[in-house]
Amino acid sequence: MKQETAFPAQSHDHGACVDDAMETAEALCAERGARLTPLRREVLEIVWSSHRPIGAYDILQRMDRGSRKAAPPTVYRALDFLIEQGLVHRIESMNAYLGCNHPGRSHSGQFLICRECGEVAELDDQELRDSLRRKAERLGFELQSQTVELVGFCANCRGS
Ligand SMILES: [Zn+2]
Ligand SMILES: [Zn+2]
Ligand SMILES: [Zn+2]
Repeated sequence: MKQETAFPAQSHDHGACVDDAMETAEALCAERGARLTPLRREVLEIVWSSHRPIGAYDILQRMDRGSRKAAPPTVYRALDFLIEQGLVHRIESMNAYLGCNHPGRSHSGQFLICRECGEVAELDDQELRDSLRRKAERLGFELQSQTVELVGFCANCRGS
């Protein structure tokens, strides 16, 4: 099964993306009996502030309200929860986090990373995933997870 997620148009209504993401997260967590606490919700909303992955430090900065600072372990724990629930992906090469726009569906773990705008889109190619798994198996490699990060320029940036 092939499911491709394109880069959003530059002029799209991002508020709708955020609303969608938060609604989906609430529904998924309720269904699974997982607790989307106010803090976890806040971290998810910050991650969703754009389609560009955001680092843990930047998340922490945005949570900084007046003199009350959020502690780094708190943010990491919230991120771990969100990753576990499939609501957020960690983009290894950028050491940053991206909101998933189709949590709850199976993933093949391929990401397109734009060097110009920094946005990331998911490319879900099950065939590619299976092919990599078979090749690894043939080499006697016990595969635990796979992430493919493809770096280049998105259609929006190529057009401008
Ligand atoms: Zn958006
Ligand atoms: Zn995803
Ligand atoms: Zn771009």
